[in-house]
Amino acid sequence: MTTDKDSENIEDINCTEAIDKLYAYLDGEVDDADSIGKLEYHLEHCHSCFTRSQVESALSARIKNAATKHTPESLQKRLRDMIDKF
Ligand SMILES: [Zn+2]
Repeated sequence: MTTDKDSENIEDINCTEAIDKLYAYLDGEVDDADSIGKLEYHLEHCHSCFTRSQVESALSARIKNAATKHTPESLQKRLRDMIDKF
């Protein structure tokens, strides 16, 4: 059986998995194409995760910009907890 990697063949992941992967991805911990593909596929089809990913990306960029100053890890954690409650 031949399986071509069309988007139709990508199994969807659930929102919890997507958010887990999103965090790992933003931390630079995900670099395999399969995981990133699944994450992107989910974000394309799940509006709530897509919206959250936009917030996360913006936040992540801000935290990186602020990192030269002083960004306690607890702040990052607090922000993430806050986003989780959206
Ligand atoms: Zn979702």
